[in-house]
Amino acid sequence: MAENIKLEVVTPEKYVVDEEVQIAVAPGVLGEFGVLIGHTPFLTTLKTGTVRFTDVNGTERFVFVSGGFAEALPDKVTVLAESAERRSDIDIERAQAAQERAQNRLAQEKAEDVDFVRAKAALERAINRIRLAGTK
Ligand code: ATP
Repeated sequence: MAENIKLEVVTPEKYVVDEEVQIAVAPGVLGEFGVLIGHTPFLTTLKTGTVRFTDVNGTERFVFVSGGFAEALPDKVTVLAESAERRSDIDIERAQAAQERAQNRLAQEKAEDVDFVRAKAALERAINRIRLAGTK
């Protein structure tokens, strides 16, 4: 079997993942990409979505990421994100409340009181969290 590659998913608050993996797949702005050991170095911005990886035991794992970028090196993938949490740590009720808040903001009639870009980004995070948590 091929050698493993190191995966780090880091936010300003914490290390969410710091382990050897068989493969990591991340949501790049230009599309999803997979990284195996020996990958050509590159750097990309990520979409809000899911980083998935296969751990050393062959189990597939899922991590929500938002506001991030990834650096792939031949022996290591680093994801730096504004927020990230493992699927099992997603609080669905919190995400549902965030979704409702964002939807209400976007539906407000007095548009000048609403930061639409921010509300849309919050809605996207909430939807992605709910979707990922629901795939358990
Ligand atoms: P909220 O409005 O509920 O805070 P948000 O999308 O604005 O949601 P983020 O800014 O993405 O939150 O994240 C802030 C911190 O809270 C991060 O550490 C993130 O991992 C955590 N977090 C946010 N929402 C959830 C959730 N539904 N379940 C688990 N952790 C969450």
